[in-house]
Formats: sequence, structure tokens, C-alpha cells
Amino acid sequence: MSFYTESEERQALRQAVGELGKKYGYAWFDQQARSGGNTSELWQEAGKLGYLGVNLPEEYGGGGGGMGDLSIVLEELGAAGCPLLMMVVSSSIVGTVITRFGTEEQKQRWLPGLADGSTTMAFAITEPDAGSNSHNITTTARRTEDGWSLSGRKVFISGLDVAQAMLVVGRTEDARTGKLKPALFVVPTNAAGVEFQQIEMDLISPDKQYTLFLDDVQLSRDALVGSEDAALMQLFAGLNPERIMASAFAIGIARHALGKALAYVKDRQVWKTPIGAHQAIAHPLAQIKIELELARLMMQKAAALYDAGDDLGAGEAANMAKYAAGEVAVRATDQAVQSLGGNGMTKEYGVAALSTAARAARIAPVSREMILNFVAQHSLGLPKSY
Ligand SMILES: Cc1cc2nc3c(=O)[nH]c(=O)nc-3n(C[C@H](O)[C@H](O)[C@H](O)COP(=O)(O)OP(=O)(O)OC[C@H]3O[C@@H](n4cnc5c(N)ncnc54)[C@H](O)[C@@H]3O)c2cc1C
Repeated sequence: MSFYTESEERQALRQAVGELGKKYGYAWFDQQARSGGNTSELWQEAGKLGYLGVNLPEEYGGGGGGMGDLSIVLEELGAAGCPLLMMVVSSSIVGTVITRFGTEEQKQRWLPGLADGSTTMAFAITEPDAGSNSHNITTTARRTEDGWSLSGRKVFISGLDVAQAMLVVGRTEDARTGKLKPALFVVPTNAAGVEFQQIEMDLISPDKQYTLFLDDVQLSRDALVGSEDAALMQLFAGLNPERIMASAFAIGIARHALGKALAYVKDRQVWKTPIGAHQAIAHPLAQIKIELELARLMMQKAAALYDAGDDLGAGEAANMAKYAAGEVAVRATDQAVQSLGGNGMTKEYGVAALSTAARAARIAPVSREMILNFVAQHSLGLPKSY
């Protein structure tokens, strides 16, 4: 298989997931969002069909594939109007970290549920005072006789209402230097001392964001994932899948918006020809098609490097893919609104709400400015300003 032609298995996966996505569709997704519902029904079905765990090892119930496969699942669901935000964290970042660094017991405990969709896991790193500067997080784990006590506050944590557990990025005190260093903990969402409050977002989405309070949460020793000394490296290994999936999320939304715009401009006629014949309408859509293909190519490169075990190479490519995907998602949704004129702002056509969802792809999980900082420093060797 050449890099530019998808294998028959991947084409079949794309096709099958696309069919599942269409069975639900944007009208269903939007209805869930506006009624305060969630996407559990589609999540469960996708899980049973093996799509949510395509990247996880077969011995723990997964499909034995990689991020290339998982990104196809999210992209196709998004293109059908059902971008499942929790796929960016559950089997991708959390599944990856547990697969690569968890103990045998942790793998057996969590991976089969992540693979078949019966378990959803959230990921909590962002803190109100640290923001993009995650080196400044203060959620702290103290050793107790039986394990750990975890305290801190997180913000914008997605999906705590549907998650049974979460991977929390905290810090432990280095025994020798007394300095705090990052560490990763699995925390059940119903543990004593865990509370969360929904943040009212100006975003029409069934996936909700929460402020999370961790107040002296008692955890057993085996809540710590991986080594205390290598947590930073482990975290970075998990962030690449997250960025690849954030790209797939954005590309799916962009494809969905472009599809809606095309259907409309081919049909709508107010002069002699359909409005899609006017270059002021056609060219921006053509540009979006090009940018979409470019973003997807970079996402596929990032996934291929990651799946080949090249974490460093994947890091640069995943950042670039996430940047390109976020940008094209914002442009595609904006141009879709413009192409539909007044109908672009109606609930019936469902494109205006996509613009806010697309903006999330520019901000999370890492903002486009922080990606530009990364590229400026690491790819171009420019000095750091902060
Ligand atoms: C819909 C949604 C879902 C989310 N889900 C999760 C989740 O599940 N788990 C989780 O942990 N987090 C989640 N987040 C949080 C997200 O990762 C953060 O919002 C993001 O990392 C930016 O952090 P901040 O909001 O604190 O912005 P800030 O860090 O305050 O940044 C504000 C602005 O300043 C810019 N900026 C900051 N520093 C620099 C710099 N050095 N150079 C140039 N510009 C800079 C930023 O790019 C941004 O434009 C979610 C956010 C959203 C919107």
C-alpha cells in the first residue's frame, strides 16, 4: 500500500463508519445537544461494532490497529454530522497512556471497556490559573499509607457526565528535591471528594464541559499510571494521539460543513444559474477542499509516524495537522454560513452552530498560538518569548 492510497481495510472501515454516522446524522446530534442529551446511544453502538477501540491491542478487546484507524472513525462520524468529542480523549489519549505505560492489572481493568464503549474516560489537565502553561498546574497528590490523596481544581473538562473515570494530570513531590513533578492518576468520577459543575458554554453540543473539584480524593496505590519519574514523557506520548484526534474532529466538521454548502449552492438559483456557478461562491469552497485535503494528509502523516513508533516526528506532524485542521474547520463553517445566505443562520440548515464547534478546534486541546510557538521554536529554531 502506498502512503497515498488507503488500504482496502481502511476504505472498508471508512465506508462502514460513514454508514453508522448517517444512520444518526446531524439532526439527531443537534437534537441531543439542544435537549441537554448526550451521544451515548451512538457511542454504545460504535463501541459494540469495535470502532471506538480500533487502536487498542487485540488482547484487551481492541482492534489491534493504530491512530490511523481511529482517526478515520472520528473523521467519518464527524463528516456525517456526529463529531464525538470524547473520542479525542477516551480510547485515544487515555487508552494510549494505559496501553503504553499501565500495569497489567490497569490494562485489564480499563482497556476492554474503553474498546467496547462500555467505559468512557475523560482527561483532565487544564487548570484555571495555569491555562496553556501546563507546567504551572498545582493539582497535587500526597502519599498516604494506602496510596494517594489528590487535591486540586480543573476547568473545561469534557464529558464528566458520561465518564466513569478520568485520567488526571497532577503532581507529586520529589522525595529528594521536594520539587513537584507531573504524575498521571486514574480517578473514578464517583470517588468521594470528586465534584463537578457544568460550565455554561455558548456552544451547541451534546458534549459538556465542567469545572472539576478534587478535594482530598483517596486513591489506592495502583491509581498512578506509569512511572512517577517519567510522567512528562508519558504525557507527551499521549498528547500526540490527542492532537491527531483533534485534527480528525475538525476535519470531520469541515467536511460536513462543505457538504452542506455544496448541496445548497448546486440547487439554489436566484439568477440564471445556480449560485454555485458564481466564482465568489465557488472559489472559497474550492480553496476549502484543497485545505481540507492538505490537513488530512498531514493528519495521516502524523498518524503513520506515531503508529511506526516515531514519537518525536509525530509530535511535529501532529501539531501541524491540528493547526491546519482547526483553520480549515473555521473557514469551512464560516463559508458554509455565507454560502447559504439567510438560511445559513437558521436552525433548520444547521450550519451556524457548526462555526462555534469548529472554533473549539482552534483552542483545544492546544491553541493555535501554542502550536505556532512550537513550530517557531522546534521546527525553525527561533528563540522563545515566554
Ligand atoms: C470545548 C472545549 C473542550 C475542552 N476539553 C478539555 C478537556 O477535556 N480536558 C482538559 O484538560 N481541557 C479541556 N479544554 C481546555 C483547553 O485545552 C484549553 O482551553 C486550552 O488549552 C487553552 O487554555 P486556556 O483556555 O486557559 O487559555 P489561555 O492559556 O488563557 O490562553 C488564552 C489565549 O492566549 C493565547 N496564549 C497563551 N499563552 C500564549 C503564548 N505563550 N504565546 C502566544 N499566545 C498565547 C492562547 O493561544 C489563547 O489564544 C477544553 C476547552 C474547550 C474550549
